[in-house]
Amino acid sequence: MMAAAGGLAMVAATGAGAQTPGGNSSASPATIAAQQSAAAGLPEDGTRDAAFSTRGFIATLPDPVIRNAAGNPVWNLDAYAFVDGAAPDSVHPSLWRHMRHLKHHGLYQVSDNILQVRGFDLANLTIIRGESGWIVIDPLTSVETAKAAMALVNATLGTRPVSAVIYSHSHADHFGGVRGVIDPDDATSGRVAVIAPEGFMEEATSENVMAGGAMLRRAAYQFATGMAPGPQGQMGSGIGMGVSGGTLSLITPTDTIAATGETRMVDGVRLEFQIVSGSEAPAEFNVFIAAEKTFLAAEIATCTMHNILTPRGAKVRDARAWGHYLDEAARRYAPQSDTVISSHCWPIFGRAEGTQWLEAQRDNYRYLHDQTVRRMNRGETMAEIAESLTLPADLGQEWSTHGYYGTYSHNAKAIYQFYLGWYDAVPANLNPHPPVERAAKLVDALGGAERVLALARNAMAGGDYRWSSDLLQNLVFTEPDNAAARAALAESYEQQGYSSESAIWRNQFLAAARDLRGASARSAATQSTDLIAAVATQELLDSAATRFAPERFGDRSLTIGLELTDRKEQAMLEANGRVLIGRVGETPAAPDVAMRGPRALVLALLFLKQPVSTMQAAGLQVEGDAAALQHLIDALDPMPQGFAIVEP
Ligand SMILES: [Zn+2]
Repeated sequence: MMAAAGGLAMVAATGAGAQTPGGNSSASPATIAAQQSAAAGLPEDGTRDAAFSTRGFIATLPDPVIRNAAGNPVWNLDAYAFVDGAAPDSVHPSLWRHMRHLKHHGLYQVSDNILQVRGFDLANLTIIRGESGWIVIDPLTSVETAKAAMALVNATLGTRPVSAVIYSHSHADHFGGVRGVIDPDDATSGRVAVIAPEGFMEEATSENVMAGGAMLRRAAYQFATGMAPGPQGQMGSGIGMGVSGGTLSLITPTDTIAATGETRMVDGVRLEFQIVSGSEAPAEFNVFIAAEKTFLAAEIATCTMHNILTPRGAKVRDARAWGHYLDEAARRYAPQSDTVISSHCWPIFGRAEGTQWLEAQRDNYRYLHDQTVRRMNRGETMAEIAESLTLPADLGQEWSTHGYYGTYSHNAKAIYQFYLGWYDAVPANLNPHPPVERAAKLVDALGGAERVLALARNAMAGGDYRWSSDLLQNLVFTEPDNAAARAALAESYEQQGYSSESAIWRNQFLAAARDLRGASARSAATQSTDLIAAVATQELLDSAATRFAPERFGDRSLTIGLELTDRKEQAMLEANGRVLIGRVGETPAAPDVAMRGPRALVLALLFLKQPVSTMQAAGLQVEGDAAALQHLIDALDPMPQGFAIVEP
């Protein structure tokens, strides 16, 4: 019902299903030269990651395709089996190497009583052998993939019940599959403890409610949703392959952790938590399992630099806090840990290795933060800092500091934004013409469409795809039907994608090229009943108000009383010619309309725009001016669908 409610912007990504191909053009001579130059600057491959990413392998599923109840594929374990040997010209050599280690899937032994199922979804499912059953940390994104992971665990190690579930943080790839692991009754009856960081439910359900429509569309670019993996196609997403396309669920935690150092005895295993909220996620903790000498770094340290601001769109994250948490982890937990694991990618074995690895990650975020702020205070702008600030060569010897997910470029811009916002203080940029008008003026000033196309082709021949994309994007914004301009821009974007070390930069360029070539696969909004049920009514009423069209409502007023019987909540809505205001906990004295019924029926009215009469037939009691209520519903925009990105 809500577009992308609560983290769903990530869902409906690459899993499987109908897929479009990737780039049409092969790597140009300039791109091949860029790949060779990049390869020459990379550190020694080393043997560590090859060894650690396969160490402890026990078994995987014989059938690589995981399906939903209808028989449709939601995940293919072997989707990246083609990644082997030397990098093709159309993939950055560092990203190719990364995918060689990331593509493995199956059940792996981490320590005596800790195992991980890796490669079954975007994230890892970690299990600890408790006294009576399995303690599950982070049950993947989809019910189907989580179920398949547990089936593998039980078939390989012997069937045991799940005795506890732990959500490391509030992102959907770490909780969405929970119903594949336990039933809600297991939690409500107290049979299974469900432990999460404080603030988990609020953050899990609210992160994408307001901006869900935009995030879903942008996420389709970040993850190249629906694009087939391949040397000219999707090449994972940095922290994993893609996001499974199955059913998202949520079960409310029964216990929350508020402070670092808090411990819980869970099914005979003592767990200690480090709160890292406000860095990678607004509610997140790491877990130290002393008996196993193992530290789970959740997602603040993985095999790649992360996003300070994810390109799909989100609130910007605090890089300084992130660095401090990593420093604390390296000093407090790493010296007691023989193994450091994460909820993405492979483990780091060895006490010294784990400590150095966490310290390298710490230095990466601190360097990014401190050097961005240093430049910022010298007067450099966002774009200038993003250009001049690069990964230091010695730090880059540690492969996990590389930007397969976040990049120095967009993370430096994010830190600038965190402190100063989008404005670079150059007044010409304070109020320029909007994109379409500016594009028309620019193309005209440069001498017209043919001239711009020639300039762009010239830039492409010289390998300056940043400039050709810039020129051609303006041309397409002026002449969206100019086939030559669209084809040239698609090719320019493809070359930029091929030479990107970041998987999600590659995805965005290739998704843009796909849209330009007319093969767009705009995904419909996914819904999760569990997640919508968990969103506060006030937030839903505020979200409905963001689709209110005053020009259609007109200069009138309307007051509505709401009694949500299933939740025992009173609320009201007040509309005038400008805004729609919702208030939970208030009852209007003399409403024009009074509605009474389960919340789902009211939401069907406000979000799905079901006719008032249909909802009345379904059991919603409406007293008063039903025609005025219908007028309000008509004045709400439908739920947002995909929108144009590469064209005006
Ligand atoms: Zn994650």
